[in-house]
Amino acid sequence: MTYDTLRLSEVFQCKKCGNCCKGFGGTFITAEDIEAISNYIKADPRNFVTDYCQMSKGKPILGQGKNGYCLFWNGLCLIHPVKPRMCREWPFIKAVMVDIDNWSEMASCCPGINNGIPVSRLKECLGKVMSKQSDR
Ligand code: SF4
Ligand code: SF4
Repeated sequence: MTYDTLRLSEVFQCKKCGNCCKGFGGTFITAEDIEAISNYIKADPRNFVTDYCQMSKGKPILGQGKNGYCLFWNGLCLIHPVKPRMCREWPFIKAVMVDIDNWSEMASCCPGINNGIPVSRLKECLGKVMSKQSDR
């Protein structure tokens, strides 16, 4: 990420455990994601939603296997270079950052989140990330 790297790495460093690739209400994808992932896995984008997605509230999300994990998780993300924005930005998602209780709840299942940071410092850091995101 292009924010304050030192601070962000204090707050979060992915441990590649895959917890966030399981459940969590699904990973929404855009038409651009469909194009990029299809190209990457050499699939026909016209069939991508049928073959690799489930619907949630009328929108496609990446499908999950019987084990509850994303279809593209196999010990690591098989589509890492083209994974959807939601996955690229996790856990710096506005809905998570905007409420410190949400952030703490996520920290309880994401071992990459440092939950030892004082709330005031954490709020300052997350506020900075959100303001950078809204500039885009
Ligand atoms: S749950 Fe957290 S530490 Fe584990 S893979 Fe996801 S982001 Fe990384
Ligand atoms: S696309 Fe990759 S990072 Fe995103 S949920 Fe699936 S396996 Fe995890």
